[in-house]
Amino acid sequence: MLTQTHLAHLPETLAALKTLDDRWTELRSTSRSTPAQVVSESDQDLNQLDYDVVVAGGTLGLPIALTLVLQGYKVAILERGKLKGRDQEWNISRDELRGLIELKLLTQAELDKAIVSEFNPIRIKFGDRELWTEDVLNTGVDPVYLLETLKQKFLKQGGKLLENATFKTAIVHPNGVEVSYSQDNTDQSSIKSRLLLDMMGHNSPIALQSRNGKKPDSVCLVVGTCATGYTKNSTADLIATFTPIQNQCQYFWEAFPARDGRTTYLFTYLDAQPDRISIETLFDEYFRLLPEYQNTAIDQLDIKRALFGLFPCYKNSPLVPEWDRIVSLGDGSGAQSPLSFGGFGAMMRHLIRLSDAIGQALQTQCLDAGSLALIQPYQPNLQVTWLFQKSMSVKLNQTLPPEQINQLLADVFTEMEALGPLVLKPFLQDVVQFGALSQTLWQTSIKSPGIIFKILPQVGLLTLLDWMRHFVNLGLYTGFNAIAERNLPVLTQFFRGQPPAFQYRAYRSIEAFTYGAGKDYYPPEA
Ligand SMILES: Cc1cc2nc3c(=O)[nH]c(=O)nc-3n(C[C@H](O)[C@H](O)[C@H](O)COP(=O)(O)OP(=O)(O)OC[C@H]3O[C@@H](n4cnc5c(N)ncnc54)[C@H](O)[C@@H]3O)c2cc1C
Repeated sequence: MLTQTHLAHLPETLAALKTLDDRWTELRSTSRSTPAQVVSESDQDLNQLDYDVVVAGGTLGLPIALTLVLQGYKVAILERGKLKGRDQEWNISRDELRGLIELKLLTQAELDKAIVSEFNPIRIKFGDRELWTEDVLNTGVDPVYLLETLKQKFLKQGGKLLENATFKTAIVHPNGVEVSYSQDNTDQSSIKSRLLLDMMGHNSPIALQSRNGKKPDSVCLVVGTCATGYTKNSTADLIATFTPIQNQCQYFWEAFPARDGRTTYLFTYLDAQPDRISIETLFDEYFRLLPEYQNTAIDQLDIKRALFGLFPCYKNSPLVPEWDRIVSLGDGSGAQSPLSFGGFGAMMRHLIRLSDAIGQALQTQCLDAGSLALIQPYQPNLQVTWLFQKSMSVKLNQTLPPEQINQLLADVFTEMEALGPLVLKPFLQDVVQFGALSQTLWQTSIKSPGIIFKILPQVGLLTLLDWMRHFVNLGLYTGFNAIAERNLPVLTQFFRGQPPAFQYRAYRSIEAFTYGAGKDYYPPEA
């Protein structure tokens, strides 16, 4: 009801909210339809190929497409609508944007123009416990400017952009993929390429087929607004709680100064059981609690836009390619941790790695499913975050002390703060490292010895055992990464004498250790 009242001036937004809620209902349903079979295989060779790469989906597909064009590959993008960014900024840490410069996608002047807001300090608050940090998610990037600038460069470099072109099917042949699409609602056409990158987001028909209708292991629901009229708008909240568990949810809040107002989000982690709350009910909760959170009456606010999303998370992530010549990237592949809904940030962190890996796969003809799987390797540093996500959520039929999650997070973050920024900051940027995590767990278990007895019934023994496996792997990856780093000149020399396919695989293994151990993190310069 509150949502309908406060967003009555945004009828299109209310309609979009209803569509998303219908999807959420379908996702929770026990009788879900089987996904459409959009990918099939043929054993006949294709006559002639039009492109090296077709990128289906042009939001985060665009930066990847541009890196490939700059490497000399012939690339086409299929985009269902007009390729343009959304009005709402993407929040990210400045150091995570360095790939755009290093890969020459943007000049420094263009990057500076794309950054439309920057703010400090950043608060983290659980109940009464508050701590402050700086330079984490404190930069707002304008998606409209960013994507338009990348689009013009893509076109100038000879890239082909098909807008209003909806992906329909893909047939995988031994020497290429035939991709069918319908443009401007006309009959289907097709293009043939060596590789298809699926970048169609969470609802990608390719990713849905690959996941075979499986329910997500958890979901993050997000609602919020960007509004003017707040009395204070200079600092941000990276994550904040101020209520106990309610509606079988722990509510988490975020707030960022934006170019044209203040962005505030309410998000929560839950499973996809039929009786879970709707997104509109969560939005009602947002409007009910916002005055207390921001100390501002809602009728003082001018709501520019409403923001909402549904992020399904699968333990089997990133999505392992099922077919030769097709790989899913971006949101559809589940590339980020289950704690984060920052898919733009995740893509930026991996941009250099993905650009190198895809370029080398094309160059060495390593386009079979097994070789492409190395582009999206197992990452223990992401898998360990499942335990944290589970300890920040409540099962439907579970009774927990109302302040349990707040207290747990307050204890853990107090220890992280005491251990210093090199422990706290990477974690806040979705990068978990073995040393930092071990120290935090050790300190927390000394200071709050009862913690394990609280968490165990909440998350369950299986989750804990599974976590231990990933934690051990995180340690092993950290060791392998250190060995590889120390011997890199010798290894590079050795790789040079080997066949191209061996080189491709060897470099992917080294990257897997680096990224899987969270060693891709560079502390911001002082
Ligand atoms: C409320 C909210 C706030 C967010 N805030 C942040 C933030 O602050 N920082 C951050 O890093 N991230 C943030 N994100 C996440 C970020 O927006 C996503 O991670 C990012 O947009 C994912 O990009 P994608 O290209 O993988 O998928 P999408 O954004 O879903 O893009 C998919 C693209 O594929 C196209 N497409 C879909 N189907 C077809 C088809 N059949 N044929 C052709 N094209 C198709 C779509 O039109 C679209 O352009 C936020 C998301 C939400 C919802």
